[in-house]
Amino acid sequence: MEKIKMTTPIVEMDGDEMARILWKEVKAQLIEPFVDLKEEYYDLSIRSRDETEDQITTDSALATKKYGVAVKCATITANVERMKEFNLKKMYKSPNATIRSILDGTVFRSPILVNSIDPLVKSWKAPITLARHAYGDIYRASEMTIEKPGKVELVYTAEDGTEIRQLVHEFKDCGVVSGMHNLDKSIESFARTCMQYALSIRQNLLFSSKDTISKVYDRHFRDIFKRVYLDEFIERFTAAGIQYEYCLIDDAVSRAIKSSGGYVWATQNYDGDVMSDMLATAYGSNAMMTSVLVSPDGKYEYEAAHGTVRRHYYRYLQGEVVSTNPMALIYTWSGGLEKRGELDGNERLRRFGQMIREAARHVIEAEGIMTGDLARITSRSDPQVVTGHQFIAATRTELEKMIAREWPEH
Ligand code: NAP
Ligand code: MG
Repeated sequence: MEKIKMTTPIVEMDGDEMARILWKEVKAQLIEPFVDLKEEYYDLSIRSRDETEDQITTDSALATKKYGVAVKCATITANVERMKEFNLKKMYKSPNATIRSILDGTVFRSPILVNSIDPLVKSWKAPITLARHAYGDIYRASEMTIEKPGKVELVYTAEDGTEIRQLVHEFKDCGVVSGMHNLDKSIESFARTCMQYALSIRQNLLFSSKDTISKVYDRHFRDIFKRVYLDEFIERFTAAGIQYEYCLIDDAVSRAIKSSGGYVWATQNYDGDVMSDMLATAYGSNAMMTSVLVSPDGKYEYEAAHGTVRRHYYRYLQGEVVSTNPMALIYTWSGGLEKRGELDGNERLRRFGQMIREAARHVIEAEGIMTGDLARITSRSDPQVVTGHQFIAATRTELEKMIAREWPEH
């Protein structure tokens, strides 16, 4: 067929281990035969980051800022063991943290739902997309243990020297204290990004906090969300037929379990950390979560939520047959190309992006072909268990059929 043309490059960030092997296969089998791929390639594997002293990560984030859309493979986050394993020069920051701070982005996570892989929560019909505010609160708190009786105060000293003091606690004995903070600018840009994202997928937005107890701190988040909504979004939400609503965290949790899904749930930092694990598990599999980092000025970086799948990689290197699920990696390319097409007004590319994931879903839903992690939890009695490579090959066969049906002139 005549390959689909692109006008603006997509930024590709390559990764590590088993994810890297499948990533390459997805690109070779599902993208390159059909798209005349215009891209800027950045190798974010741990060795390449080490060789460039991590400059490559910064460069890839700047390229995303420039072009607007990136797709990222899972990467190793350096720790003590990895430092030894790869003889690294430094303990590099997590690439995701570096990219997120350069783009000032918010991460939206949502599960891939397919028939026959049923969520543990029976009422869920559509994905709940979780957005986590990734700055401050307990993650940047200043903490102290109190070893003997004494007074702990919050002291704010303004630049002009004036002081405000407030008692935290008069300790009669040992204890512990924590001082947290957040920034209006960060909360505002989080609110704005969530509202923009809800608009772009035309789903209701819920923001939760605990403002009944935290009457100043959490209330401040609630007020900022409300202000951003009233000042910048209310008309567009109304026109799109969607709603913004504030909700107490307790209520948001019980709603998440009772509802049928299909909305965006914006959370504070800690709530998002914990709830994303709960949602991923309850939807069935970690390997079926996608993730997109969105900046307030509309730049997108797509990725799988899982890691490099190290355990499978070492077995793969020893020649064992491993069944690693490439769905989230396929969805990453799919989302990235769809968004690139949408931003460029390139209808064929946009539609092709969607077709990739429709083909992959079809392989599971209609043919019962799936990787081992899904075969363990499917409600089908006759799943056909395949390797990641075989799954990609089956997806390619289906994709070719879809293209022949939809674009016969091609
Ligand atoms: P992981 O790579 O997500 O794998 C944990 C386990 O989850 C696997 O051993 C496997 O379980 C299962 N799993 C994950 N993805 C799967 C898939 N696609 N198909 C089938 N099973 C899958 O997490 P990890 O082992 O904790 O981390 C490995 C490396 O990834 C670390 O260096 C970490 O820093 C990095 N990491 C990167 C990112 C990112 O770049 N976004 C995110 C998380 C972790 P079984 O072994 O039971 O089959
Ligand atoms: Mg967590």
